[in-house]
Amino acid sequence: MKRASIAKICGLVMAVTSTSLAADNEVAGTIQITYLGNAGYQIENGKTIILVDPYISQFRPGGMGPTDFNDKTDPILTPDTVGIDKRITRADYILITHSHSDHLLDAPYIAKKTHAVIIGRAGAVRIAKVRGVPENQTITVKGGEDYAFDDFSLRVIPSLHSPLLKKHYNNLTWAEDVPAHLKLPIHESAYREGGTFIYLLRIAGHQIFISGSMNYIEREVEGLRPDIAIVGSGASRKEIYHYTGRLMRALGCPATVLPTHWDSFGSMSHEQAVRGAEEFASEVKQSCPTANVIIPDYFKLMEFK
Ligand SMILES: [Zn+2]
Repeated sequence: MKRASIAKICGLVMAVTSTSLAADNEVAGTIQITYLGNAGYQIENGKTIILVDPYISQFRPGGMGPTDFNDKTDPILTPDTVGIDKRITRADYILITHSHSDHLLDAPYIAKKTHAVIIGRAGAVRIAKVRGVPENQTITVKGGEDYAFDDFSLRVIPSLHSPLLKKHYNNLTWAEDVPAHLKLPIHESAYREGGTFIYLLRIAGHQIFISGSMNYIEREVEGLRPDIAIVGSGASRKEIYHYTGRLMRALGCPATVLPTHWDSFGSMSHEQAVRGAEEFASEVKQSCPTANVIIPDYFKLMEFK
């Protein structure tokens, strides 16, 4: 079975042929995937638009610099609504992998303007509601769910956050849950992790593995067979034993691999970020020589058939 090849690069549209191990024997259709920066992706099938951890605010003029665990000033965080309005006009669902600000900050504003439904853990939903997202536009998940929607299904997979700070990350309040009692304005310190998910999105005959951090629980992902894998590829993956090889084996070598979180929300130079992503790409190729690893450009639509 032909699994993936770059068919053409044409203007802003990159067409990729990827005959998937289709979900539910569904014939693979065309989907579009767009990288939004940091761990943000947009996935659509011509009808439904699903966002993952949108964080357009990272492109705010002058930069933003949130989620600096050494920053003691605890600023009030607000999304860059001007930047979001330029980039996001429609959305139906927003998946949140965890509640740090570089994953969650923009979602409530986007949900309010597009009427999209936010799917995430209780802490993410708590922040969304305090920011004015109506109850019926939130779905709280705990991990382990496998939900059917009109034209896609979504498996919620328990996972782990990146082992930042040389594995000391879990010692910090950032690893705890979003505070129970919140009110506006919301400071950065409220955006605590609150648990981390991976998602398996089945849409238009494709199975898309979606992570937003540099870690996973092997037994939870073993045996999944996505044709497209969005994989956390930041430097903290090096704290994990055989991070890339174990994951590629567990997933049966996905045809297409899209690195994510490789630019660390713009906190490093773009050249440095690309070099890191290329290093990850070579790790993938060592384990899965036939995999097509695409280091995505910002806001460039990629088409998968
Ligand atoms: Zn995080």
